[in-house]
Amino acid sequence: MTETYPNTKLHIGGKWVDAVGGETIDVINPATGEPIGAVAHARTHDLDLALEAAKSGFEVWKKTSPFSRYKMMRNVASLLKERVKEIAPVLTQEQGKPLQQSKSEISLAVDIIDWFAEEGRRAYGRVIPARTEGVYQLVTKEPVGPVAGFTPWNFPINQGVRKISSALAAGCSIILKGAEETPASTAALVKCFADAGIPDGVVNLVYGTPAEISEYLISNPIIKKATFTGSTAVGKQLASIAGAHMKKVTMELGGHAPAIVCEDANLDVALNVLVENKYRNAGQVCVSPTRFLIHENLYDEFVDRFTDMSKKIKIGNGLDPETQMGPLAHDRRVEAIEGFVSDAVSKGAKIRTGGNRIGNEGYFFEPTVLTDVPLDARMMNEEPFGPVAPMTPFSDFDSAIEEANRLDYGLASYAYTSSAETAEKLGSQIESGMVSINHHGIALIETPFGGVKDSGYGSEGGQEGIEGYMNTKFITHKTVL
Ligand code: NAD
Repeated sequence: MTETYPNTKLHIGGKWVDAVGGETIDVINPATGEPIGAVAHARTHDLDLALEAAKSGFEVWKKTSPFSRYKMMRNVASLLKERVKEIAPVLTQEQGKPLQQSKSEISLAVDIIDWFAEEGRRAYGRVIPARTEGVYQLVTKEPVGPVAGFTPWNFPINQGVRKISSALAAGCSIILKGAEETPASTAALVKCFADAGIPDGVVNLVYGTPAEISEYLISNPIIKKATFTGSTAVGKQLASIAGAHMKKVTMELGGHAPAIVCEDANLDVALNVLVENKYRNAGQVCVSPTRFLIHENLYDEFVDRFTDMSKKIKIGNGLDPETQMGPLAHDRRVEAIEGFVSDAVSKGAKIRTGGNRIGNEGYFFEPTVLTDVPLDARMMNEEPFGPVAPMTPFSDFDSAIEEANRLDYGLASYAYTSSAETAEKLGSQIESGMVSINHHGIALIETPFGGVKDSGYGSEGGQEGIEGYMNTKFITHKTVL
């Protein structure tokens, strides 16, 4: 199971370059715990170069017609499609997810570029009927300017491509800071943009010390918008820097998705969909089902079957075709999940399966099912971001809704019922940006993707996705002869 793994350079002004100071950061394979390569570490001098590049890239790109942008972005999508098999092992080696999930992530990215390429052509303004003859009232959309984007390590391609594609479709340039843990797959994505002829300076890629880069870029006058995917705590810091400089912001932050299984749910469907999505990417997904709220009449059967299915998940190196769940992405996650589990157990939770790190090579953790987890356990309040499933019974619908809405998070939520009336109540009463009932139907690029409350604001999908990258301008024109 050996594959080659490339070192990663910065991409600034159309060139792949080392950091001016020559610094690098090691990249670790989470399946082995061993270093596999390095990524260039940008400091302020490199960031200044990236800012100048993004500024001149914007001047060129904003004048490129939406139709030409569309043509070029479609070429990017075609290149990425050709490279799926080449990039997937790189993604798996640095991030850990099974190869099939890496391939799906890259294929989804192809669709995302295509979607935004098309949306750019449809970023319509409007004409508002005037009160006076001879007056024309136009609403136009303009690109906001150079964007600073910050993406995490759980979906290094998918998170990056949403930000790059929506920025480019709107006519913006971007400096993306990818995740230092998973740099090469994001770089492979950016290479498709470069190789497809997107002009120099339009897409720039940097790595380094996250807080140093975000503070420097967001507060720089060249940058007109910040977009971040990651934890709520960091999102609040970045939003406050952006607020101090009056910059536009999109924040795709943490979640703590409730999964409500009502008394009349189809249990087979609920179990199959929820187990698969709980352990996808080892639970390191912002929309992962997290608080399992099960009607008391189904509770024992649901927990028994969920536990059996969890025990059967095949864990291993993501390059092994048999693997269904890979390691956690880095050592901090193992410590974090151990902490969540021991905290819950110390407060009375019972472990039905799992609960432990696996072996001492790499960052593997067992699929873990817990019952009797009290509401004051940390995992019931903070985003666990790992393969843990706390189960809680409920007796009436209102108490399930109350628990679903208890936290300040509001990203995704899931529910299972065979009643149309209950489905309607779930859809309207759950406080979250996305509600998926009887299937896992979110994160399709043609649909909005984003949260409410502490899960952030703005959208990374659907027609709303491009909105955050455009300013609205009102022009009123009176004809005077
Ligand atoms: P972390 O909070 O240090 O990092 C999370 C991500 O945010 C990383 O990619 C990191 O590079 C970036 N980041 C951190 N501080 C930053 C800053 N000041 N400026 C710009 N980027 C910054 O911790 P971690 O251990 O890597 O992950 C912990 C938590 O982050 C998880 O429990 C989860 O809640 C959250 N997270 C969320 C997502 C998501 O998709 N929403 C993805 C990854 C991590």
